[in-house]
Amino acid sequence: TDRREPAAVGTATHCPYCGLQCAMTVTGDGPATATVEPRQFPTNRGGLCRKGWTAADVLRVQDRLTTPLVRVDGDLVPTSWEHALDLVASTLTKLRAEHGPDSVGVFGAGGLTNEKSYLLGKFARVALGTSNIDYNGRFCMSSAAAAGNRAFGLDRGLPFPVSDVGSARAVLILGGNVAETMPPFTAHLATAAEAGGLIVADPRRTPTVDRALAAGGVHLQLSPGTDLALALGMTHLAVAEGYADRDYLDERTEGFDAFWATAAQWWPERAERVTGVPVSRMRETVRALAESRDAGTGAYVLTARGAEQHASGTDTVSAVIALALVLGLPGNRGTGYGAITGQGNGQGGREHGQKADQLPGYRSITDPAAREHVAGVWGIDSADLPGPGRSAYELLDSLGRADGPRALMVHGSNLAVSAPRAAHVVDRLDALELLVVTDFVLSETAARADVVLPTLQWAEEEGTMTSLEGRILRRRRALRAPDGARGELDILADLAERLGQPADRFPRDAATAFEELRRASAGGPADYSGVTYERLDAGEALHWPVPAVDHPGTPRLFLDRFRTPSGRARFTVADHVGPAETVDEDFPLLATTGRVLAHYQSGAQTRRVAELVAATGPMFVEVHPDTAERAGLADGDAASVVSRRGTTRARVKTEATMRLDTVFLPFHFAGAERANLVTNDALDPTSRMPEFKVAAVRLERAS
Ligand code: SF4
Repeated sequence: TDRREPAAVGTATHCPYCGLQCAMTVTGDGPATATVEPRQFPTNRGGLCRKGWTAADVLRVQDRLTTPLVRVDGDLVPTSWEHALDLVASTLTKLRAEHGPDSVGVFGAGGLTNEKSYLLGKFARVALGTSNIDYNGRFCMSSAAAAGNRAFGLDRGLPFPVSDVGSARAVLILGGNVAETMPPFTAHLATAAEAGGLIVADPRRTPTVDRALAAGGVHLQLSPGTDLALALGMTHLAVAEGYADRDYLDERTEGFDAFWATAAQWWPERAERVTGVPVSRMRETVRALAESRDAGTGAYVLTARGAEQHASGTDTVSAVIALALVLGLPGNRGTGYGAITGQGNGQGGREHGQKADQLPGYRSITDPAAREHVAGVWGIDSADLPGPGRSAYELLDSLGRADGPRALMVHGSNLAVSAPRAAHVVDRLDALELLVVTDFVLSETAARADVVLPTLQWAEEEGTMTSLEGRILRRRRALRAPDGARGELDILADLAERLGQPADRFPRDAATAFEELRRASAGGPADYSGVTYERLDAGEALHWPVPAVDHPGTPRLFLDRFRTPSGRARFTVADHVGPAETVDEDFPLLATTGRVLAHYQSGAQTRRVAELVAATGPMFVEVHPDTAERAGLADGDAASVVSRRGTTRARVKTEATMRLDTVFLPFHFAGAERANLVTNDALDPTSRMPEFKVAAVRLERAS
């Protein structure tokens, strides 16, 4: 197991939080004395955000779990590892015998290391034999991933190093607030911002928008849920006003004519009526991108969750990619399209088999050759490999039902806070016969579990992560793990043995797991076979695919051809349909959700850091003062935000730059302050992404 001693002096590793994976050095001889310092690295250029600077505080949280817990007479009580694992294994064995292997589900996360993601997928399919495994990346990146696969035949969030963006004088970001979510990223926007070429599409005037406007950039302040119409309107304008790259369209794309049959209907004035964005702003955007392209000074189009978390998220990103294709940006040096990954291992987490429809190496689970290859690495017959399972929300919605799992194992997710329509999801969790949560604190989800297994934290474990630019990074143990907590690889191996698997089938140390992952991914789209810990430890910058140990990696994809059968990028016919629910007299406002600077995801970690809690204050609803007044509310009042699914409580925070029809809810808070009590569980038909970004609501004074 990973029990070797940490380095006596500083250990080079990466931040535990977001996909930028800022480089840091951890020093100290234990949690009490641990400190972090930024390291120079291409993604963070020596910077850390407030979350990163306080990451050591998470190592010394007061309520750290170091003993397994089991529920007895309604209460969680400490127990031994032997008893906890025996209880889990015997219950899973009984359920599988009585109801079949799909009666057990597994829920993973985009924060898990590559090694854990890989072994979680293998554990589900081999040790449990279930098809029911998915992960919280389905809530994060799945629409961009699906659209990237559609257009380019391959999804890697940024198919170029993030530093390439740093030299561009024109950058369009749709639905991304990097100045708060990953502040060091803004160093890569400085050239564009100073040139007046930073353009941000967002219903809110965020700090990222402020950065753009400070130097003459553009804010496309669209109505929530109209991103697709905005993309079509700008694409129409690009074609109609002569900004399209005709040679590129002829030589490097296919399907434009069918796409144009729809896009031609989106003349800019129509797009303005739907989105609220003036035609003049759309024109400034297209002109800035095209002129910088023509001048050879760089042009990038980037999407993030604001464009992706919709019931039409895949089509929305496809339309944004269409704009980039019309302008001739993807697959060239100095220009391109990319998606900004959110979670720490959001990229690697979707490549190694914890997704319902995929096998390691980013292979399809329905591809016979892929099944044969992976089954061979796992030492099983490919006929015994389960097929595709339910997507994340559909898995959660099926829990405890006649045809759904009766037991669920949760790793790295805090579903009671982070899932859409959260109260309903909690009801489904409570309907289970067995909920097993592996975590290092008693999260809101762990608090509902039947068994809680205490695990290691980021600075206590070895492994790899893959950043938003597809670069594989080493996570290193800086501190000795606390007695009582166990690594997830150990836990899975212990359970697998109890479920009858051979003792050596599930490696317990990250290095051995990575060696197996290399073989499982070989030949797949995300080929890690040429990556070794030795190469990473030597400081090599390896972006996948890396198909051989003497291969230098692939920092820039698609320079010669796209990964489609024809080598050309594909247009998709996509039309604006609007959000899944609309406003009416009872619910006259549109709520959109997002993150704030000092918190991360469900807040399970950052709500335990006093400095971050103090910086943010309690849950708030951001609203225009006139909108608040119409609801009889003023700044600081306690409000209820009510949707068709539930109510969340928040302090009113008035902000004159908000749209009159929109309110904003951060989703980091727990209990009655969960933003996801009101969000919509309508799903994108392709990616199965829930529509986190639009819910019809009303504001009321809290009773
Ligand atoms: Fe960097 Fe993200 Fe960590 Fe902030 S949270 S320090 S941006 S990796």
